Parts: sequence; C-alpha cells; structure tokens
Amino acid sequence: MSRVAEVPPAGVAEEAVDWKIKFYKFLQDFRDTSGNFKYRERVFRMAHMMQKSLVVDFSDIILYDRALARHIEEEPDQALEEFSSALAEYLRKEQPEYAEVAGRVYARIRQPPRVLKIRELTSDYIGKFVAIEGIVTRVTRVEAKLVKAHYVHITPEGALHEFDYPEQGEMGERIEKPVVCPVCGRTGRFELVLEKSKFLDWQKIVVQERPEEIPPGQIPRSIEVVLTGDLVDSARPGDRSLITGILRVMPTQAVQKASGRSVFSFYIEANHVDVQQKVLEEIEITREDEEKIRELAKDPWIREKIIASIAPSIYGYYDIKEAIALLLFGGVPKLMFDGTRIRGDIHVLLVGDPGTAKSQLLQ
Ligand SMILES: [Zn+2]
Ligand SMILES: [Zn+2]
Repeated sequence: MSRVAEVPPAGVAEEAVDWKIKFYKFLQDFRDTSGNFKYRERVFRMAHMMQKSLVVDFSDIILYDRALARHIEEEPDQALEEFSSALAEYLRKEQPEYAEVAGRVYARIRQPPRVLKIRELTSDYIGKFVAIEGIVTRVTRVEAKLVKAHYVHITPEGALHEFDYPEQGEMGERIEKPVVCPVCGRTGRFELVLEKSKFLDWQKIVVQERPEEIPPGQIPRSIEVVLTGDLVDSARPGDRSLITGILRVMPTQAVQKASGRSVFSFYIEANHVDVQQKVLEEIEITREDEEKIRELAKDPWIREKIIASIAPSIYGYYDIKEAIALLLFGGVPKLMFDGTRIRGDIHVLLVGDPGTAKSQLLQ
C-alpha cells in the first residue's frame, strides 16, 4: 500500500481526477433499484457490528460510474487505498464514535463481472484487479506481518530518538529502515522495537482450479492467495470460494535474491473472499430436516430412489451409481478393542474406458 506515490508528478496534479471524492460520493449517493441508499445502510450496519470492512458489490460501482469501475480494475493498489480512505472519512462524518475506535478500515469488492480461470492468469494481469474461483486446498497458520516499525535511534551521546516507520502507509515485503533518523537527521543504528510496532494478521492459502475447469489429461493448477486482517480464517480447506484481489509476483525461491534469477511466481493479495459452498459439516440439520429424513427412511424404495437420483441424465451404470451413493453417505468409524481406528469414509477408484461418463458421474 506504500507503493502509491504520495505526490503526483508536477503538471499532472491539476488534471488528475479526485478518485477519493468519487468513492466518497458513491458511498453517500448510490441508490439501489428500489431507491434505498444501500451503502449508507451498510456503513451504518458496519459501525454497529464493529466490522473492519465494508463489502461493496462491483456491479453497483459499474452502474454508478464506469470510469470508477475501470479505475479499480486497472489501478487497484491506488483505487483500493483511495476507497478505504474515503470510507474512513465517511465514517468520521456519519459514525464518529465508531470511527474513533475502528482503526484501519477496508473497502472490499465482491462479484466482479469477469471471473478468470486460474490457468488464465498471465503476466498481463500483474498489478491488476482480478477474480478467481476455486477450491481451497491448503491453509497456513495465522502469522503477524509487520506493517509499521517502531525504531529507536541511540545517538553517540546516549539519547534515544523513537519514531515509527514508514511515516505514511505500510511496510512493504521487506523490512525497511530510513537512511537518516527523522528526529535528528543523522545516520546511525536503528533498533526495531517489536512490542511497539504494528502488525497485521497474515495467512496464506492455496486455491486450486475447479475440477470441471481442468482440460482433459492435465493436472490441476493452483495459486497462492494471501489473506490479511479480517480476511484471515475466512476460508477452510475444501471450501469453494470466489476471491478478488490484486495479482502480484514473488521470487520462486528464497535463494533467488542471491542468484538473481528473473523468474517469479504469481500470487493474489486478496481483497475479498466469498465462500460459496461450505464443507459438509457446516450444514446444520434442523428438527424438521431430521423428521423428513426419518420419514424418507421408512420408504422401502429409498435405496433405489437415492441411487437413481445420482447423475439422472446418464443412462444405466446402476452399480457405479450405487458405489457413488455409498461414498456420499460414508460409513461409521470403528474403534477396535486394541485402540486401532478404522476410518468411516469410503474411498472409490473408478476405472474405465475413455468416454464412459466417469468424470460426469463424479461431479
Ligand atoms: Zn510507535
Ligand atoms: Zn536521531
């Protein structure tokens, strides 16, 4: 976020569009089709639920001002910074008590018009706002990323000069130190004081292509996605999710910096995560559901009905459908007297000639 120059180059300043004001006006003036001030209401709710983020639908921005939407797509670093600072200002005006305690707030944008396949992400999109859809396969533990360092300059005379760095914005990928002490203007040694520095929750997840997107005969591709702040822990392995963010590159290996190799790998710095399909255990079975299930269980043909409900558009393959039905239900884990556990879920290996509807059946 510190990548954006604070001062525009001379001569450009007069003509430059004030995007921040446009974002502010969007929050204040946008009305949905029924005439409601959608974001006034969302900001109100955000303040009352003490949330750090405001979720904005991309389609609303397109409807409101196409240039603003294009600004987000083309210069997302700058645009998201402006949008978030417009949001902070709007909060200060409309919800001053919450603004006082909120700290940093974020504008998060969901449902963009175009969702890319993971294998469509090319270097053309570096630094652009992108959206991908996939299945979360790996989630790291939450770590803390240094965003503002607190340094102490111990002068030769033994005085202590304390300051925060960077003064504006946030620390980049690497820990940086100023060239001279901002208090006295001299060079010297600056000690980092971790206890007084500011950190942001940080987590990396791996998102893999959806099975239906993988071309035949190819292995699935995946991409790393970095989640920060309130996005941390928003997705779990197995979740199908739609992620928006900025495509970035990082060195492929730690040793690369030394060797100077010029190949980098892609990752996405997430702006918003929409989990579309929670993993199975998240589904809550209500009393009514339970009654219905018990009712259905009394049906003498229920086994056949369930099997027939699997891939109904594919004719035949009754035994395969039966195996898939059993796989979906799973078994019961058993604990043997000697303490060994026999797992309850069933693994199925489907072998067959090409073109015999194997992958259609497994969807
Ligand atoms: Zn400090
Ligand atoms: Zn100093």
